[in-house]
Amino acid sequence: MLASQRLIDALNAQVGREMGASMQYLAIAAHFDSEDLKQLAQFFYRQADEEREHAMKFFHFILEAGGRVELPQIEAPQSQFATAKECAELSLTWEKEVTQQIYGLVDLAKEDNNYIALRFLDWFVTEQLEEVSTMNSLVSVIERAGEDRLLWVEEYLAREPLVEEAE
Ligand code: MG
Repeated sequence: MLASQRLIDALNAQVGREMGASMQYLAIAAHFDSEDLKQLAQFFYRQADEEREHAMKFFHFILEAGGRVELPQIEAPQSQFATAKECAELSLTWEKEVTQQIYGLVDLAKEDNNYIALRFLDWFVTEQLEEVSTMNSLVSVIERAGEDRLLWVEEYLAREPLVEEAE
């Protein structure tokens, strides 16, 4: 096996967190979709797809490293939201937490001198820079427009999708 059992366990936990993030973003997408805010909904549908891709990257890495995939239980996401700002801030907080989780995985891989895992995790470190900065932008766009002018946010997102198309 190309990774220690404790690293495999931590990677399995991360698969669950990425899937949890995907579910959380789906719940937010549903909220905006039901309010006919289609661009905001689209933004979060894309984010949800991205998180699932992240989960699958960890999933395949575990298998390639010769570990066993053991999917954890996933907590139900928050599905009631009072404001658009609440949705964006929840997402920003989430991405900051994920960044710390990725750092935790890097620490484990470092302790194991696992250079294969370190190189694999590098991609996620860079990705988190983008995720946090994207969510920061969304929070500030929503703040500037205000909750009564979410159609401006819609127009903005139609011009500037903020999220790149999934690779
Ligand atoms: Mg992610």
